[in-house]
Amino acid sequence: MDCLFCKIIEGEIPSQCLYEDDKVYVFKDIDPQAPVHFLVIPKKHIDSLDAMEDEDSELIGYVFKKIRDLAREEGLEDGYRVVHNIGEDGGQSVKHMHFHVLGGRSLQWPPG
Ligand code: C5P
Repeated sequence: MDCLFCKIIEGEIPSQCLYEDDKVYVFKDIDPQAPVHFLVIPKKHIDSLDAMEDEDSELIGYVFKKIRDLAREEGLEDGYRVVHNIGEDGGQSVKHMHFHVLGGRSLQWPPG
């Protein structure tokens, strides 16, 4: 499968890895939109939440547990935002499920 984030997981494309285990890969966004901006992705290729199977629920719960842990480790005690863009209207550019974690400044609402 020709997937950019699968290639990042495999190390074929370089990334600044923050954390990795058998289920998830976490790296700094190449184009940060906040002082802290990293991406948390399941190693299993799933296009997005819209494409998840019921059997993926446990894995995605694990992804969110890691988001909580890493946000603490990155010092985001004043708060942060988790973003998952889905499909064209959602602004998804890479079709491998990824959760943006943004923090380190006061974030505005609503997004554009
Ligand atoms: O939600 P969306 O699909 O637009 O997010 C993709 C993200 O992947 C972007 O924030 C982009 O900067 C990031 N990216 C990256 N490293 C790459 C290619 C894209 O961090 N090599």
